[in-house]
Amino acid sequence: MIIDSHNRTFKTLRISLIGLCNLGCVYCVTNNEKKPLYKKKALSYLELIDIVKKLHLLLNLKTIRLTGGEPTLYPQLVEFIEGLSSLQLDIKMTTNGYNLEKLINPMHDAGLKHLNISLDTTNENTFKKISNRAKVHKILENIEKCKEKGFNIKLNTVIVKGINDHEIIDLLNYAYKLNIPIRFLELMKMGHLFSNEHEKYYFSEHEILESIKSEYSITKDIRTPHSTANYFSLNNHKYKFGIIANESEPFCSDCDRLRLDISGNIYGCLSDNQPIDISEDFNNEEILRQKLHIALKQKQNDSFKGSMLSMLAIGG
Ligand code: SAM
Repeated sequence: MIIDSHNRTFKTLRISLIGLCNLGCVYCVTNNEKKPLYKKKALSYLELIDIVKKLHLLLNLKTIRLTGGEPTLYPQLVEFIEGLSSLQLDIKMTTNGYNLEKLINPMHDAGLKHLNISLDTTNENTFKKISNRAKVHKILENIEKCKEKGFNIKLNTVIVKGINDHEIIDLLNYAYKLNIPIRFLELMKMGHLFSNEHEKYYFSEHEILESIKSEYSITKDIRTPHSTANYFSLNNHKYKFGIIANESEPFCSDCDRLRLDISGNIYGCLSDNQPIDISEDFNNEEILRQKLHIALKQKQNDSFKGSMLSMLAIGG
């Protein structure tokens, strides 16, 4: 068994398919740079599928989450999903939703049924401030189209103090009206925020809850093991929202996530991003097992320590 002294193992594999994004969010990039961040050559999608199969044999994974950068920019996205679908796992994707329109049918047919769509605002001016791009309505339209198609959707919203913290109730009402769970994320100390500006932009779970309590009464649900989010119910409504409180209420103690990048590096924790290269030896079960043990040792016992890498590089 690949398990540590805290009974942790890997059950969720997050694959960062590309180090590029079509948005330039303030918390992810500094100067809107767009170059890929991986150093080594990218593996082909067929090689990546082989790696996933070998990891699955050892770990008996439950979920694969495709992310990035922006996974919809990965040219072989649909073929990759098709290749993974034979594994009979839950395949999920985290996307900013901007490019989804043409992919909705092919992705669904290929076997993807779960989408986390990142939406930090519904307001055009705020969208420009956060993402350096225009046309947030494209994302809003795509959310509705994905819902019509039958995708299981969650929304992810990073709250950035001074930029979108005044829109928490609007965002909650938007999601509630569509009956889509929304999860508010505390800003994590990553990339350029590691040494700069985290404190300036950080808005805590406590502050998010205070905003919501100004409009709704709420109760906290019991946390599901391995979950990243704390969930809350709006009283007298059958609606739940979540908060991913990585900074103020870390969930390292039962974290089951393993990350894989497109060059064939694995990472056991966002806080310790020393890449562990498995690209050349994933066919050797013993070596792969040893490397997974090394990745498991990267996990923190108590809390996220921050990282010099941005989410764009390591995969959100
Ligand atoms: N491009 C895709 C997207 O926007 O969903 C997938 C990758 S993105 C890095 C994944 C998630 O990480 C997004 O919801 C994004 O808002 C979030 N994120 C990025 N940097 C973050 C940070 N420093 N703190 C908290 N969340 C962050």
